[in-house]
Amino acid sequence: MNKLENGNSTDEYWKKKLSKEQYYILRLKGTEKPFTGEYYNHFEKGVYSCAACGQELFKSTAKFYSSCGWPSFFEPINQYVVKEQLDTSHGMIRTEIVCSKCGGHLGHVFEDGPKDKTGLRYCINSKSLKFEKGESKQ
Ligand code: FE
Repeated sequence: MNKLENGNSTDEYWKKKLSKEQYYILRLKGTEKPFTGEYYNHFEKGVYSCAACGQELFKSTAKFYSSCGWPSFFEPINQYVVKEQLDTSHGMIRTEIVCSKCGGHLGHVFEDGPKDKTGLRYCINSKSLKFEKGESKQ
């Protein structure tokens, strides 16, 4: 993993490393249109990592189909890989989820997830994720 890829990486660095769309979402806190992303309807077994820095974030076993149109998970791989931040943009009060390593914007967490699990829905942009088949390295 590149040592430059952390919360101190410069804007220049991310502009070079990420695609335009990834930069818009991960660094400018954009949102992809619902039902357009690569992973909202993707249910292979594997691990979803941060598309910017590669930190493992979610296992496919925590993924569920949600009618919202974005990949949805009921929990991250562990409590340390994501950070929560208050987001008051767009006239709403939401809890933003960022990658704990690089600070990249992932999405938001809502309290309407599966009640038989955590009750949480981590609503994540496909463009913020990179899927790999197989087991987590953790
Ligand atoms: Fe990251």
